[in-house]
Amino acid sequence: MTKYIFVVGGVMSGVGKGITTASIGRILKDQGYSVTAMKIDPYVNVDAGTMNPIEHGEVFVTDDGLECDQDVGNYERFLDTNITRDNYMTTGSIYLAVINKERNLEYGGKCVQVVPHIPEEVIERIEKVSAKTKADFVLIEIGGTAGEYENMLFLEAGRMLKLKKPGNVAFVMVSYLPVPSLLGEMKTKPTQHAVRTLNSAGIQPDIIIARSNSPLDEPRKEKISVFCNIPKENVISAPDVKSIYQIPINFEKDNFSTIILKKFKLKPRQRNGHDWIKAFSNTNYEQDVRIGIVGKYFSTGAFTLTDSYISVIEAIKHASYNQKRRPIIDWINAEKFEDDPSTLETLKDYDGLIIPGGFGARGIEGKIMAIKYLRENQIPFLGLCYGMQMAVVEFARNVVGLKDAHTTEINESTPYPVIHILPEQAEHLKNKNFGGSMRLGAYACNLVKSTKAHKAYKTENISERHRHRYEFNNEYKDQFIKAGLIFSGINLEKNLAEIIELKNHPFFVATQFHPELKSKPLNPHPLFQLFITSAIQKKEA
Ligand code: GLN
Repeated sequence: MTKYIFVVGGVMSGVGKGITTASIGRILKDQGYSVTAMKIDPYVNVDAGTMNPIEHGEVFVTDDGLECDQDVGNYERFLDTNITRDNYMTTGSIYLAVINKERNLEYGGKCVQVVPHIPEEVIERIEKVSAKTKADFVLIEIGGTAGEYENMLFLEAGRMLKLKKPGNVAFVMVSYLPVPSLLGEMKTKPTQHAVRTLNSAGIQPDIIIARSNSPLDEPRKEKISVFCNIPKENVISAPDVKSIYQIPINFEKDNFSTIILKKFKLKPRQRNGHDWIKAFSNTNYEQDVRIGIVGKYFSTGAFTLTDSYISVIEAIKHASYNQKRRPIIDWINAEKFEDDPSTLETLKDYDGLIIPGGFGARGIEGKIMAIKYLRENQIPFLGLCYGMQMAVVEFARNVVGLKDAHTTEINESTPYPVIHILPEQAEHLKNKNFGGSMRLGAYACNLVKSTKAHKAYKTENISERHRHRYEFNNEYKDQFIKAGLIFSGINLEKNLAEIIELKNHPFFVATQFHPELKSKPLNPHPLFQLFITSAIQKKEA
């Protein structure tokens, strides 16, 4: 019988509910149970694809091409698994499904109502995931915090599921305990209020995770226990940590997995968290590797940036930790190179640079200048999606000699459209069909032997995830090859260039796909691995 754990927020958002859910999954997995995780986003957007990254943070893409919340990425990373579109829903996707069913007469002439039909649709999806994955545990993270109008119907679904499956549903509340600077004391009152609010939705949490900047002391555990009506051992301390990968390890200091198993009257199967503990109990390595990410940045602070590029950052960490290095990651604004080209010299201070994905014109010439500098100065470079397209434009202009070459995304009348739109994509844009219409999800890629790509992956057939509308224009391929560019990865079905690289360079590799989306802490991505190896070599040279 599947066990369902709902993870809900209290007090405030942004305290790491996604990472908490992922960490719960990890510790249950390490007790020998199979786990899957679902995310519910209360917004009306059908998926995350149409949202601006500054608004939303990174848009994560699954193998089956869903554009979703970055938390799905956290689940994949912590659970070391790939998740499908079944595991994600939004208010918009639920309503859309219910309305479509109604239009198809699937409610048999009944009056279709918000309650019970909306929560029932939610429950149907949760049960579908349980049936499909046959997981022992299905974790369901409900976005937002208790008391918000937006997520009420999802809480209602949780309450109804508990009624339907007595003994098989638990609720975990992730709360926050502030330490007001004037008092210097951790306060439990907001948590007490949050529990009351959740109670008013008919839900009593079974476990409370107390997020704070420091560990929870005994008196406060006691207080939360008494006032929130839960056993003291079910109050889990979750202080801020240096690395998110230490959270599962921290949870186990409070015997968290045992508490969950006890709640469901289950026994540990085999303890096998050793790899995780070995890899992440101390990532504070003495030696570092310095990586710069060149992008178009907004003056909204490092937090937004970290949020928008989370998979890239995590992929850098995975490969660095694996090679016993502490990564130092810097944000470099591409526009500064446009304003003052002499600042390109600062790129020398890095062991390796990444130009990540992106859209639009801002900062693009700066990125092209940076790529030229990295190419000419033998500095390790990894280009991701837009980063690859810019590498193609740079090579076209400065090596092949195609003056004013560009991507048609930015300049439709360029004399040399070296990056152009895919025909089916032009059709989508013409019809204003913007949602979920990019080239999305996993596509096969064939690697050419004796290339860096092949050296990294050690296999010829790979599959990687995509999210873009533009592609390398094959009309220029022969010219590029003659000028020394290597097309080391090709999608054979459509003859699309997926990886480009240079020979006489320590590491100059760029991909049309997003390798960062598939990197896992216990299984770092092969391209990031080789990139970090080259960066370390540069540092040591
Ligand atoms: N803007 C580019 C395209 O649509 C690249 C997209 C990306 O980097 N994800 O093709």
